[in-house]
Amino acid sequence: MKQSKLFIKTKREAPKDEEAINARLLIRAGFIDKLMAGVYTFLPLGLRTLKKIENIIREEMNKAGGQEVLMPGLQPKENWVKTGRWDSMDDLYKIKDASGREFALGPTHEEVVFPLLKNVIFSYKDLPLYVYQIQNKFRMELRAKSGLLRGREFLMKDFYSFHTDEKDRDDYYDFMAKVYKNIFDILGIGDKTHYTLASGGTFSKYSHEFQTVTDAGEDTIHICCKCEMAINDDIIKENKSCPKCGESSFSPKKAIEVGNIFKLKEKFADDFGLKFKDKDGMEKTVITGCYGIGLGRLMGAVVESSYDEKGMIWPESIAPFQVHLIRLTTNDKRQTIFADKIYNALQKSGVEVLYDDREDIGAGEKFADADLIGIPWRAVVSERTGNKIEIKKRNEKKTRLVSEKEFIKTLK
Ligand code: ATP
Ligand code: MG
Repeated sequence: MKQSKLFIKTKREAPKDEEAINARLLIRAGFIDKLMAGVYTFLPLGLRTLKKIENIIREEMNKAGGQEVLMPGLQPKENWVKTGRWDSMDDLYKIKDASGREFALGPTHEEVVFPLLKNVIFSYKDLPLYVYQIQNKFRMELRAKSGLLRGREFLMKDFYSFHTDEKDRDDYYDFMAKVYKNIFDILGIGDKTHYTLASGGTFSKYSHEFQTVTDAGEDTIHICCKCEMAINDDIIKENKSCPKCGESSFSPKKAIEVGNIFKLKEKFADDFGLKFKDKDGMEKTVITGCYGIGLGRLMGAVVESSYDEKGMIWPESIAPFQVHLIRLTTNDKRQTIFADKIYNALQKSGVEVLYDDREDIGAGEKFADADLIGIPWRAVVSERTGNKIEIKKRNEKKTRLVSEKEFIKTLK
């Protein structure tokens, strides 16, 4: 993509009312635009990164046997009354139409997926079954001041598993924990993201959260001093030793929950009468689990984990482009032709390139933009580089002069 065509320009200053680093950097770099507190538009660069996160998660969910669906955001009040959450859920957006009929804007989808599957699960032969979606959620968050970390409308992957018995569900739960770990590794935050024991709320005794350590975090986790497991602040009081290795000393850290997994008791299955007939013809309640990841929050957490005073530093897996090709302003026509040729050659070999072809912009400004946007490779073509390209990684200082062939080989 040619940067001269990008309809959003970078900004020198972040909005005054935006405190969170992720929002300040993403807005300045033109990844997102703030419509109001907790509600953002994803612009071309930001959407590319969000889509990459989405595709990584989708691929892992498909591999885990998930079947993707897309459920509605607009939901009937009756389903929420049935589970009791019409009154008990503080952050539920309730809306009324002109006739006085009431609806919920989905903050999560148990109220849709359980009635949906009641029509398809009858026998043990229909189980296990795994259903998921990647969709916008709405929550009345009162403190929406952490940029993408806490939105009022935000993209979530929610996955639901249905089983004949607890053993099958528990095995799948442990398997999903590994799938999650792998996703956070691919996104480059694996070493900062801790599998964290948490209280289960009304659904189960315990749940697990995936907590990424960052100063921007709203939670405090207690990381085991021997292994990488952690315990949430709420339950450290009753759990004095590490559930994984037994160690009893912990180190407290601020963290943000990027994902969580829950074993759902019989709560929703009972509310909606989700039952099946086992091998002996006995009627039993379906055993379930649910597994969430916030995609926007994840993107914000990656920014909070990887930036410097100049801007963001994206991991290759979710950078909007792999290469930021910069043509320095010059009146040497040959350089323009050479830079265009590199742009075409990179694209032809499948490399995603943002090409700074802008006229009348100085070298300093182009480099500052490249550092702010944070694409993994910077490649400069100028009078000084002759028929070579000066390349540099965003997180390194050292530059190198290489030929077009060598560069493409380096990228592969
Ligand atoms: P929190 O305690 O941070 O409010 P939660 O327990 O309400 O999170 P869930 O309802 O389990 O979160 O949602 C699943 C995932 O969705 C979370 O792990 C998080 O990644 C993401 N998420 C939840 N609320 C928000 C939000 N307001 N903005 C962005 N992402 C969110
Ligand atoms: Mg919440």
